[in-house]
This record gives sequence, structure tokens and C-alpha cells, in this order.
Amino acid sequence: MGKKIKRIFGIDLGTTNSSIAYVDDYGKAVIIPNSENQRVTPSVVFFDGGTIVVGDVAKESAKLYPNEVVSFVKRAVGEPDFLFEYDSQIYHAEEISSFVLRKVAQDAEQNLGEKVQDVVITCPAYFGINEREATRKAGEIAGFNVRQIINEPTAAAIAYCAEDPLDKHTVLVYDLGGGTFDITMIAIDSDTIEVVCTGGDHNLGGKDWDDRVVNYLVQEFQKQTGIDDDILEDPDTCQDLQISAERAKKILTQRKKTPISITHGGQRVKIELQRDKFEELTQDLLERTVNFTKEMLSAGAKKGHTTFDDFILVGGSSRMPQIARRIQQEFGVEPKVYDPDGVVAKGAAIYGWKLALNDGLAQKISEKQGINIADQSADEIIELSPEMVIKDAAQELARETGYTLPAVERSMVKVKDVASKSFGVVVRDQGDEEMVYNLIMRNTSVPVDASKTFYTAVANQETVLIRIMENEVSEKTVGLGYTMEIGTAVLKLPPGLPADLPIEITFRLDNEGRLKITAVESAESRKVDVTIETNSVIHGTALEEAMARSQSIVVY
Ligand code: AMP
Repeated sequence: MGKKIKRIFGIDLGTTNSSIAYVDDYGKAVIIPNSENQRVTPSVVFFDGGTIVVGDVAKESAKLYPNEVVSFVKRAVGEPDFLFEYDSQIYHAEEISSFVLRKVAQDAEQNLGEKVQDVVITCPAYFGINEREATRKAGEIAGFNVRQIINEPTAAAIAYCAEDPLDKHTVLVYDLGGGTFDITMIAIDSDTIEVVCTGGDHNLGGKDWDDRVVNYLVQEFQKQTGIDDDILEDPDTCQDLQISAERAKKILTQRKKTPISITHGGQRVKIELQRDKFEELTQDLLERTVNFTKEMLSAGAKKGHTTFDDFILVGGSSRMPQIARRIQQEFGVEPKVYDPDGVVAKGAAIYGWKLALNDGLAQKISEKQGINIADQSADEIIELSPEMVIKDAAQELARETGYTLPAVERSMVKVKDVASKSFGVVVRDQGDEEMVYNLIMRNTSVPVDASKTFYTAVANQETVLIRIMENEVSEKTVGLGYTMEIGTAVLKLPPGLPADLPIEITFRLDNEGRLKITAVESAESRKVDVTIETNSVIHGTALEEAMARSQSIVVY
């Protein structure tokens, strides 16, 4: 192997489990086991006196110390009201997630003897602006150089393509994890991986299947003991039942029945849960995923993709046998269960490797062409260069790095994503009613620019406040009730402007799903300063303090 390119690691920051991967010297994506020699680390954080414990030990501690353990923090990411207090210290979701990131990275460093610095982190496709930004902040608090946030199903498709030759086909990625569900249609061609459309539910995952079993166990306990109390009010019993329910669920993936014992208030009840009963208890949850899949298929059809070739199942919960069975029955294809726990981190690592190779290629091309690399992105340099120059640069890079020429060429595959939400602003209609005007519609390819003209209300107005709204509606105008404010944009105007002056604001959603806003005042075509303000992502002093704490807090 010749000169190495910079290593960019891929991290799947999951609701229940997280994992980290890298691309080895032979161009193969590999999951790096944690210090317990497991491929995944539970995304559970235990505040244990002065130390932070992440992973299996934290998960086990939840039973004894329910108030000191945080699980499912990903469901709280981007929510302004989530704050966890421990020992008079307030922690935001971003900081708690940063502990999970640090744990997987530390274990990887120990395993490889190499520092984890540059990373690609994944998030669910339907994460909105704030959740994405919060995920990035979690990485930054952990001390990483976050190269990109990419969507989990896109990462899964990238990993899938790396193993299969890139002929033209359309793939559906059904991703049912611990707390989230994503369904995505991806069109693969020899030189592009393009997300056609995506849908899903923030609050639907394996945990909901567990909860159904927990409720069933409570009912059985009540039936057999004649005790009417809500035994879930006892935190110990509640934790016990959660753990037993998840264990039972996993056993039912392999076997047709499983014994479960429930102990509460000195009474012990034993039941046998049959797979059929489990499927009956959770049937409606599975149907919700089927309905999301149908909705996404009709969105895909509107964009000209009326059929698909492969249906792949990712996420730990897709192992439940009823999932594949129901999909085959409904959609007439046999889905493939594809490395459910590893595929997302692997795809992120391959994407990181692609970024690193692209940087190398762009560097070589710019040397050959005499271009200043600081002026353009690697993608732009490659896109704008003559084919012969790219070929020469690719050959040189392959020689220097020891990777094969086809591998280097494959790193130039373009990955195109879509907006997972619609984005708009609050306007008033003719009847002076407030409503939302969508500038960017969900499932539009990104990057995308869209503009709207606003007017100053009075002469000499110093600022214009724009309310930025996120929603799931694919219409130009939406009632306020269907949308969520994700922040405000404050336009700072130059002095001396008249009333009613048009100001054109442009939303730009980049390929990472980050929103940037620019504004131009029409009279003199002057650029207007825009700042986006949000309370949903850690910022200001809280961010600085979390960054500072990160230097001193040890994570185990
Ligand atoms: P992920 O977020 O992709 O790591 O998925 C974690 C979820 O997968 C959790 O809800 C697990 O309980 C669930 N899971 C993992 N293995 C199995 C299995 N063998 N059968 C059913 N569910 C599983």
C-alpha cells in the first residue's frame, strides 16, 4: 500500500445502538468492534458520579439507577424542551449524544491505534433542519471534524451499491430501527445514486413493539393475580418488563414461543408468549410501515419511478420475520435482509472514503490545471475538468494510494438526495389570515434554491422578521396548524429605505439538508444581512460550556 489518504470514519448514531466503520486498505468497509468486542454499542448514557458510562454497562444500570440513565436521546434531538439534569448540571440532547459518539470513537481508536478525527455521521432521512444541525453539533462537541451529515437510507444504499455492480436499478430501503422508521426510494445508475423520495415516522420503531409486549404482560399479571394496580408505576418493575419484553421479542424472531416471568410486589407470574400472539399485538404497527411505504411509492410514481427492482431491509427491527412476510404479501417481492446493524455505518464510511478520494483527486487536478483549490469544492473541480485530466489524476491517485483504478473511479459516483420536508414562511392571505407559503417542497432534489419577495411595512424599517416553517405538506400553501416553526430569520436592513420596498429572500437547501437564507433589497440590489435564530439547537453559552466540559469529562 502506498501513501494513505486521510481516513474519514462513518458513524451510525442510532436511537438504540450506534456503530462506527472505516474503509480498510483494500477498499472494503469494515465495522470496528467496541471494547466489548461487539459491532454495536447501546446508545445509552449512565451518569455515574463523576464519570460517564456508555454502552452495555449503562443499559444494564438503567434498572438500578433509572434516574441516572438516559436512553433514546435521539428522539429528543432538536427539541428545545429536552434538558437532563444530573448533579445540578444541565445537559442538552446534543451533549448526551456526544458522549455516545466519543465512546464509539474511543473504542475504535484503541482497536485501530489511530485517531478518529474526521467523521461522517448519519441521521434519519426525515430529520428536519434543527435535528440535522443538532446532530452536527453533537459531533462537534465530541471534538470531531464533522465532514458531512448524511441520511441513513442513503448510507445503506451506498453500502449496498459497493457490494453489487452498479447497473441501473431502483431500490427501496425499509429501515426499521429501535425508535425510528424510514422508507426511501433510491435510483442507482453507473454514475449516480439518487434519492427519489423518502418518508417515515420519527416515533415508530422496535421500542413500540416492546411497549406492546409490556402492556400485554401487565394485563396478564393483573388477570392472573387479580391485582388491578398499574404495576408500571413501580420504576423497577417497569424497567424489568421493558428488558423482558425486548428479550422476548428477539427470541420470537428465532422461535415460535418464549416463556416470560413477571415479578412485582412479591408475586411472580409466568406466561408463555406465542409468536402469533406477538404478531397480533403489533399488527397495526407493521401496517403503519406498509402505509408509509405505499405513500412513498405513489410519491415515487409522480416522479416517474413506477417500479422498483430490489427491496432491502435494514435496521435491527427488520429482523422480525413478519416484516419480510408482510412485504412479500403486499408488494410481491422477496425483500433482502441486508446487514441490518452494520450497513448504515459502513455506507457512511464509504461516503467518507469517497470524500477523501475526491479531495485527493481535486488536489491532483488543480495541480495539473493550476486552479486554486480554495476557491471551489472538490465536486466542482471534478465536475468542471476535462475527462482526460480526471483520468490522469485518477491513475496517479490509484498508484499513490494503492487502491485500484475502478475503486478510485467509483468514488466519483454522485450522491443526490432530496429535501425530507417542505420549508416555507408565514405570510398573510387576502383576508389577512396567517398561513404558510412553501418555498421548497419535500422530496425536491437538493441542493435547491427558491425565492420569495417580501415588502417593508414602514419607511426606515430596520429589521424584517421572517418565521421559517417546516412541514410535511406538498402544497404551495398550508394552514399554520400543519407546520412547525423551526426558527426565525432576521433581515437587517440598511437605513433610509421607503415603505413597501420589495426584498427578495432566497432559501438554499444544500445537499446536507442545511438551510441558508440570503436576501436582496431591490432598490439598489444590495445584499441584506440575514441571521437565522433557533432555540432548538444548542448554541451560545450552553454550547461553549458543553465544548469546554467535553475536554475534561472522561467517557467509559
Ligand atoms: P437499530 O436502531 O437499527 O440498532 O435497531 C435496534 C432495534 O432492533 C431494537 O429495538 C432491537 O430490539 C431490535 N432488534 C435487534 N435484533 C432483533 C431481533 N433479532 N429481532 C427483533 N428485533 C431486534
